[in-house]
Amino acid sequence: MDLAQPRRVEHQQTDKGYVPVYTTALVEQPWDTYTADDHATWSTLYQRQRELLVGRACQEFLDAQDEMGMSAHMIPRFDQLNEVLGAATGWTLVGVEGLLPELDFFDHLANRRFPVTWWIRRPDQIDYIAEPDLFHDLFGHVPLLMNPVFANYMEAYGRGGVKAHAIGPEALQNLTRLYWYTVEFGLIDTPEGMRIYGAGIVSSKGESLYSLESAAPNRIGFDLQRIMRTRYRIDTFQKTYFVIDSFEQLMQATSPDFTPIYAALADQAHLPAGDVQDDDRVFQAGTGEGWADGGDV
Ligand code: FE
Repeated sequence: MDLAQPRRVEHQQTDKGYVPVYTTALVEQPWDTYTADDHATWSTLYQRQRELLVGRACQEFLDAQDEMGMSAHMIPRFDQLNEVLGAATGWTLVGVEGLLPELDFFDHLANRRFPVTWWIRRPDQIDYIAEPDLFHDLFGHVPLLMNPVFANYMEAYGRGGVKAHAIGPEALQNLTRLYWYTVEFGLIDTPEGMRIYGAGIVSSKGESLYSLESAAPNRIGFDLQRIMRTRYRIDTFQKTYFVIDSFEQLMQATSPDFTPIYAALADQAHLPAGDVQDDDRVFQAGTGEGWADGGDV
């Protein structure tokens, strides 16, 4: 593997303000350079989220964290996690500086490599950070890669991404919404009750509570084309969460060729993030309390 020297993300002044500059290179996790503050940030977040997520996150997620040996004790080592993960589902974690260009990201997933940001947020960013850091990537995304069905879904998504990228920006937008409403913000209906599996939720204290317990958001049954038409929020909690019945359902619903689906969706209107449609399978129609106007992407 081609490894570069890790460095903290730099920012550069552009006409969009200060934006982070990323490299696409893979980096070896510089574990020895984590400070006591870095480990303390991990511990604080790990403890707080685990406590909150028992009975809220799906059991597969919680069990996988234990099986992988993640704990509040210290920031995990990627190479140790890789031994367990590789044996379970053949996935490999690779260290990166931060967000990757779409095609690079898809290519990693298609080859069962999950890019993990090596650096962790500062102590003053405990409750919110706009960009993904080690806590979001590792705590949020990695555990479900231990689940054989979800592991296959992520690989299929990567291959689907390479394909959508070649088709064009609208196809890519449809596919991105699927990632957003499943991998990042998905809920799952289990015999024990509604649970969280999305990485964006499990890595956020506020949204872990809001997504399950607030009366404000809609909770709607998973429907592929409905999701592909639906805008989302990047700066507030979601207005709508989509609920799967099982990871098998997710895998099955996404197994058809998306090419004709993208073509059919091209003439259909995009849906606002907070709307409920007549044919939705509604678990909860949200009150919309506290919603910001505008800002759907
Ligand atoms: Fe993420």
